[in-house]
Amino acid sequence: MTERVVFVFLDGVGLGPGGADNPFSALNLPAFEQLAGGQRWTAEAAPVREARHVFVPIDATLGVDGLPQSGTGQSALFTGEDAVRLHGRHFGPYPPTAVRPTVAARSVFARLVAGGVAPDRLAFANAYPDRFFDAVEARGRWTTTTLAAHSAGVRLRRAADLARGEALPADLTGETWARLLDPDHEPTTEAEAARRLARLARRHAFTLSEYFLTDKAGHSRDPDRAAAVLRSLDRFFDTLLGALGPADLLVVTSDHGNLEDLGTKTHTRHPVPLVAWGDGAGAFADARSLLDVTPRVVALLAGGAA
Ligand SMILES: [Zn+2]
Repeated sequence: MTERVVFVFLDGVGLGPGGADNPFSALNLPAFEQLAGGQRWTAEAAPVREARHVFVPIDATLGVDGLPQSGTGQSALFTGEDAVRLHGRHFGPYPPTAVRPTVAARSVFARLVAGGVAPDRLAFANAYPDRFFDAVEARGRWTTTTLAAHSAGVRLRRAADLARGEALPADLTGETWARLLDPDHEPTTEAEAARRLARLARRHAFTLSEYFLTDKAGHSRDPDRAAAVLRSLDRFFDTLLGALGPADLLVVTSDHGNLEDLGTKTHTRHPVPLVAWGDGAGAFADARSLLDVTPRVVALLAGGAA
């Protein structure tokens, strides 16, 4: 039985055709390849559907024209409800007004709580700086994941948690935090970030980690920036895979394509990868779209009660 789920959310990662504009096919990324059954993360990769390992493409367009965006895409991913239809079109980066009540009431956090998992068994690992909370207070600038966690009674982590090694900075190493927010903050390695996430996960049933530099790198169209981000993530996954226990399940997925096509600075309509690795992975073998992830996480950890 799956005892805990570690959910690593990557913003803006699709499965696109291999080629010169696709950093996933151009770079050697051993941990990414391991997560895809020894293949590069491209549209040509064969799906993997095994009891303890799934790697499948899932639809991020939800059948609606236009380019998928983070507000509606993440809302769909983290609730299992069709946020694109609720709003009428793709929208981002923040969840649109019509979708916010659904994110608050039906997120993976809220549904796990409704299914009997106590809020203190749920964790959102990212550290948010004070300026994020200022923007929330001044302009209601909730992101999908922060709104989801906060509404379900899951604490948002801050600078003090980061200083104690009980939260992850947005870039994993903390270099950006030190440069922009706090010169006294000591950056660490991706390996230490992965061990930190694994330690947090051990104390919780469900632990979410969010990474958005993938989307930023995609918008930049800069191959060097894309390579730096992907190599950093590869180091992180390499350690994380070794730190998981036999009853753990790692889920990795995204909200829309972007980084896999540096030929355009916009998002793409490509499917996104869904990786399930470890105990209970087989439950994700038939996932088809963003809507199919949260219900399976809830079923594994709360018996589908919610
Ligand atoms: Zn974007």
